[in-house]
Amino acid sequence: MKEIIRQYRQLRDEVDQLASKLSEVHSDHMACRKGCCGCCMNLSVWPVEFYSIVEEMKRFEWDKPTFNEKAACDFLKDGLCSIYPFRPIICRTHGLPLVYWHEETEPPGYGVMFCEKNFKGTDGIDFGSDNTLNMDEVNEKLARINLVFLDEQKYPSLESDTRIEMRKLLDYL
Ligand code: SF4
Ligand code: SF4
Repeated sequence: MKEIIRQYRQLRDEVDQLASKLSEVHSDHMACRKGCCGCCMNLSVWPVEFYSIVEEMKRFEWDKPTFNEKAACDFLKDGLCSIYPFRPIICRTHGLPLVYWHEETEPPGYGVMFCEKNFKGTDGIDFGSDNTLNMDEVNEKLARINLVFLDEQKYPSLESDTRIEMRKLLDYL
């Protein structure tokens, strides 16, 4: 496996571990459950993530997904993600309290975002670095990995250095 893909998957594993820890910490305040898919939408991803997903799905001989054009995300099937083991990093953070830098607030600063179905009646919850996921840090690491990937990539037909719609997966499987 290419070193840079290994680094992407390491980041993905780190996010999975943090997501699992945070889901446990906040279990009393989260409504997330199997079949709830209000957070799903058609996404685009960086080429490194796209390539990694294609490579892994081919290696595991995953059934080519069929699109559900009526769903918010093409990959939703009966309310479930049909590419769940390979889903992008952002999908692994759904519902968690995510920290982003907000430039537009006065004064600019970090803010916490989460699904409106979660953390209801939790006015007193004290969000901090120990119980949130800093997505700016994750995205920065991902962007750096993607830059190295683009510099090295020799993947046929994957010429774009911009984000790629996940629905294009079908063209590569
Ligand atoms: S890829 Fe899967 S988890 Fe991500 S938005 Fe689509 S259906 Fe939801
Ligand atoms: S983030 Fe919201 S919409 Fe998505 S599974 Fe959790 S509760 Fe449902």
